[in-house]
Amino acid sequence: MTRIVPGEVVADWRAAAAHGVRHLYIHVPFCHRRCSYCDFNTYANMEDRMAAYVDALCAEVRSFADAASCPPVSEPAGDALTRATLRPTVFLGGGTPSMLPEPLMEQVLAAANTVVPLRGAEVTVECNPGTVLGRDYLRALRAMGVNRLSMGVQSLHDPTLRVLGRIHTAAEARASYNDARAAGFDRINLDFMFGLPGQTAAQWDATLREIVTWGADHFALYSLILEARTPLYAQVTSGRVSVPDDDATAIMYELAMERFAAAGYVQYEISNWALSIAPEPAIPIPHHACHHNLAYWLNADYLAAGAGAHGHLYPRRYADVPGIDDYIGCVRAGETPVAEVTELSPRDLAAETMFMGLRLNLGVGAAHFRERCGVAMDVVFGAELAELAAAGLIEYDERGARLTPRGRMLGNQVFSRFV
Ligand code: SF4
Repeated sequence: MTRIVPGEVVADWRAAAAHGVRHLYIHVPFCHRRCSYCDFNTYANMEDRMAAYVDALCAEVRSFADAASCPPVSEPAGDALTRATLRPTVFLGGGTPSMLPEPLMEQVLAAANTVVPLRGAEVTVECNPGTVLGRDYLRALRAMGVNRLSMGVQSLHDPTLRVLGRIHTAAEARASYNDARAAGFDRINLDFMFGLPGQTAAQWDATLREIVTWGADHFALYSLILEARTPLYAQVTSGRVSVPDDDATAIMYELAMERFAAAGYVQYEISNWALSIAPEPAIPIPHHACHHNLAYWLNADYLAAGAGAHGHLYPRRYADVPGIDDYIGCVRAGETPVAEVTELSPRDLAAETMFMGLRLNLGVGAAHFRERCGVAMDVVFGAELAELAAAGLIEYDERGARLTPRGRMLGNQVFSRFV
């Protein structure tokens, strides 16, 4: 990939490239406190910049609006999952978007509405159970057009939550979830992690047994990744904190697959489970799948705004200025807040379409690949597909390519063959 780091302001090509784009990511980089494992672009104790940040953010979002004419949703033709089958989406991630007071949240959503009409879209707000401001706040979010919450719970074990530096207890997470349900949210994703410091299989099993009874329609489960330069990484590498080994973590993952399947959840991606409803959809993706994340896995184009946000408008990918003050200063000065642009080749597009799509249980559909890349999958990757199929890591037929159970355990090895 060619990397371009412009040393001077470049003309904002994004508005022109935004035509027809149906997915918008908005980054809210504020947190009350940084969790010990977190390496996201987020900042604590900068709440005094919130209003100025939201002004800048809305200006950036509105700059997309003229050209971004989000096409109406059409009924999917046939039974193939392609970009055209996705609902338009707006996703407020962070950071902790639920720290935004109501008027600022309203301002952000009004700006988003100029790019992707909220009516008919999947509109998700990430929230931390320690910051959800009660049922009135949640009802206000619904009234503003938010129809999905994504709540980072991570653990129901208070000592583990403390090691992770989370600002909430297990009881507060349960209460926040119940508040969200009482406020009328019927689409709620819950994030949990496994392979956590001191975590045992029995503890994880107790968590799984409890959470499948909550009635959430979506779960995302991630194994802990120790990111360099985080406090937790230093604690683990110095031996002060221990984490389960790879085998123990793999057992936890298998336990999750077992418990969720038994509770009626459909695993549709390596880390994601959702409820389906009868009758089964023609496209084998559960009804409650997250369409915003599906856009990433289908390697769709998406706009992104906010400090450190990453957007994808093929043939380019871009990243905004990461610092809050730099971002605000840039927008106030009338400059485009893009810090980095990566030019993508057709080969990059094909590789990303493969390794992102293989995360889905459905795999990479032949029709989707052809629609996205303009060429058949085996024309580009015939040798790689044959080699991985012979190794028992993927299944490959006229419908497309998908990971085998063994391939799922060795996903990174498979993905690297396409890069
Ligand atoms: S709440 Fe989320 S974004 Fe904020 S520090 Fe914790 S993990 Fe990172």
